[in-house]
Amino acid sequence: MATPNEIRNEKLGKYLVENLEKRHFEAYYCPTAEEALQKALSLIPEKSSVAWGGSMTIRDMGLTKALHERDYDVIDRDLGKSPEEIAALHRKGLLADYFLTSANAISEEGVLVNIDGTGNRVAAICFGPKHVIVICGMNKVAKDVDAAIKRARGFAAPVNSMRFLGKTPCASTGRCHNCTSEECICNEILITRVCRPAHRIKVILVGEDMGY
Ligand code: SF4
Repeated sequence: MATPNEIRNEKLGKYLVENLEKRHFEAYYCPTAEEALQKALSLIPEKSSVAWGGSMTIRDMGLTKALHERDYDVIDRDLGKSPEEIAALHRKGLLADYFLTSANAISEEGVLVNIDGTGNRVAAICFGPKHVIVICGMNKVAKDVDAAIKRARGFAAPVNSMRFLGKTPCASTGRCHNCTSEECICNEILITRVCRPAHRIKVILVGEDMGY
């Protein structure tokens, strides 16, 4: 029997799918990470080139591992051995057939909010890769765009800064200080309110807590 949380996620997920489709995203709701993994793989034809951003979600659900094990041309930024190699992989990823990422937050109306330190991830969401697949746990849904930005800056960014061992005020205190430090990871803030060309961005909502 489904739990109240699962029922809530399913109902809100369906509402979000409708709102995303009105904004010309392709949208799906998957109750579990395993179903989301299979959905993502079904959207990416074999032999495609695939790159991704620094997302815990796509790693934790096993998607990056599954792509390495199958017949894809993987552009894996994590294999860069130096800052120069990583930057080169970031640039190469901007011309991939498919780019995978999560979102830092998504509003109930279907607007995506992402913040970025170097900008490669938000650049790829905006333009470059022919297709973008966004995989987002229902824990990242916020009431509206303002609440989504607050979630991204007030929660996701401090946790990510700690994850990257950043020398930022939030990594010390757990809250945003609106810093301008050299290692700030909130340099670019992207609000994606409509998908153009239609269906270029595919959003898979997952009825589980995933990522930050
Ligand atoms: S303190 Fe700086 S790096 Fe941390 S969340 Fe705020 S703006 Fe981002």
